[in-house]
Amino acid sequence: MLRVKLWGTRGTVSTPVAGNARYGGNTPCVEVRTDDDVLILDAGIGLHWLGESLLADGFSRGEGCAHILVSHTHWAHIQGIPFCNPMLVAGNRFTIYGRGDGDNSLEGLLLGQMDSAFCPVPNFFDDRIGAGITISEIEALEFDIGGTHVIARLVHHVSGAVCLGYRLENGSASLAYIPDVEYLEEDHRGPSLELAAGVDLLIHDAHHTAAEYAPHRGCGHSSDQDAVDLALGAGAGKVLLFHHHPDRDDDGIDAVVTSHRNGDFPVEAAREGEDYVLGADS
Ligand SMILES: [Zn+2]
Repeated sequence: MLRVKLWGTRGTVSTPVAGNARYGGNTPCVEVRTDDDVLILDAGIGLHWLGESLLADGFSRGEGCAHILVSHTHWAHIQGIPFCNPMLVAGNRFTIYGRGDGDNSLEGLLLGQMDSAFCPVPNFFDDRIGAGITISEIEALEFDIGGTHVIARLVHHVSGAVCLGYRLENGSASLAYIPDVEYLEEDHRGPSLELAAGVDLLIHDAHHTAAEYAPHRGCGHSSDQDAVDLALGAGAGKVLLFHHHPDRDDDGIDAVVTSHRNGDFPVEAAREGEDYVLGADS
């Protein structure tokens, strides 16, 4: 079983304004609980709030353990790490998985963010401070975390970005997470189709609307229609439109969802605080 909770659904930059209150303004972070493990997809500003929740759940006593799967190191996907307070508590253990950009290791990129020139909190990646943090550069694209099988695939985003999508399988439950992707060529859809094949829930980039996409082609993001087409092609059970454009308010997101109402396929927009239980019937 996978219990999914959304802590950050906004793309690019946090947007804490009243007009975005329903779908939320925090950048990407998704909590996935199994019976035994805490998995976290991306470490945007939503991770700060997930961290506060974890403190009420054993992490305040230094007894917590969590696994963070980072899609890529653009700010919106890592800026929650310095503000994840359980990482300041000795005894907790975190493993951060992902890939560097070819010139720099994942560890080098994440340490760069903790440099005192940019970061107001102590560098808790230092072993003398806070939780034990292991940074795991993903080599093999399939591995297990406890009872969860993780499949990672490189997806096309923007030039210079090494970007992963993930599929999590636990028992009969499955989830695909593809927050930043653009399909400029038919080949670009292959990795996403593989990740999303038959999943219960697909969380997919829908930064643009289909109507506004054309002038943004090549900027690294998908439209809502791209997300729905990919979900249909992969046979996913449901798609959550994710990575909402910073300038799209709640009413704008509602309008996008409503535009898909006439289809048979379940399309929802990712909303902060929403949770989903996958595989509960097995
Ligand atoms: Zn990105």
